[in-house]
Formats: sequence, C-alpha cells, structure tokens
Amino acid sequence: MDFKQYVTIVHDWPKPGIKFKDITTLMDNGEAYKAATDEIVKYAQEKQIDVVVGPEARGFIVGCPVAYSLGIGFAPVRKEGKLPREVIKVDYGLEYGKDVLTIHKDAIKPGQRVLITDDLLATGGTIEATIKLVEQLGGIVVGTAFLIELTYLDGRDKLEGYDVFTLMEY
Ligand code: 5GP
Repeated sequence: MDFKQYVTIVHDWPKPGIKFKDITTLMDNGEAYKAATDEIVKYAQEKQIDVVVGPEARGFIVGCPVAYSLGIGFAPVRKEGKLPREVIKVDYGLEYGKDVLTIHKDAIKPGQRVLITDDLLATGGTIEATIKLVEQLGGIVVGTAFLIELTYLDGRDKLEGYDVFTLMEY
C-alpha cells in the first residue's frame, strides 16, 4: 500500500518552517490504519517480542493495536506527573524543546523482549529516551517501529545498534 497518500503535510505547524506530518488522516482510514498496523505486526512477529512500549501520545496509536493483535501487553511511556505509581524518569531533548519521560517501575520484567513504537522518527531523542527507560528496567530492545522516518534529521544515528523499521521516508 502507498501509505504516503494518507499522510497530510501541514505547513508551518506547530512553528513557522515546520512541515508537520499529520498521521490522523491515515488513522481515520480503517483500511490504511489496519494495513500499517499489520506491517508492524509482521515485523514484531519476526522479533518474537514479549511486550510493546510506546511514548505518549502517538506511540500509543501505533503500538496498542500491535500489542492487541499479538495478544501481548503494552506499557505506556508518559510525560512527568501522568503515571500514578512509582516511576523511573529520563530527561530528553525534543525537536521543539526539552522534557522528561517516565515509565512505571514494574512495567517491564528483566529479560523481556521489547518492541518500541512511535508514529515518527525525527531526531531520535524521544526513542533514545524510551530505550534508556526500557533498559534501566532490564528489558531488551529487539526492535523499534515507526510509521514515518524523517531521514534528513538522521535519527537512525542515535539508534545505532538497534533495529529500526519504518513504513515511509521523507
Ligand atoms: P524526535 O524525538 O525523534 O526528534 O521526534 C519524534 C517525536 O516528535 C515523535 O514522538 C513524534 O510524535 C513527534 N513529531 C515530530 N515531528 C512530527 C511530525 O512532523 N509529525 C508527527 N506526527 N509527529 C512529529
């Protein structure tokens, strides 16, 4: 499937000069959303994963249907102050600023094989931080999967040594 036809490019959002890739027009098309999810499920099956982890909020949109389809769990990574129980945290740099990500301390058991999902790989900062959280809990990051990769931002360089799967490149 040509997934790019379902992505809407929004100029000058959230800031002048940014060409935002809006994936909501892919998600609200049932056929496209299912086809994209199925591609990531296939990838996940090859990696024999135990649990899916994704950062808020669009990492949930990509990761949750994958976990559901495989009959395995999904662990959310969230901004500080959003998870109700004991967490570990990591600071990270965003394309548009700085922030803190957290995960519940008991979300991953040591040795579990983890797939990390998000909608888009830009500089790689979000996923680098998510990897740190998973590894601090003893998880093994066996793959990362995205709908979109912005190749000109070289996010893959930050993820050296990790397997990266993407459906579309810009
Ligand atoms: P990174 O940390 O790789 O620089 O940025 C990736 C994160 O920013 C992802 O969580 C993603 O949701 C968000 N992001 C950055 N640019 C875009 C964009 O153009 N479209 C979408 N949908 N998300 C973006």
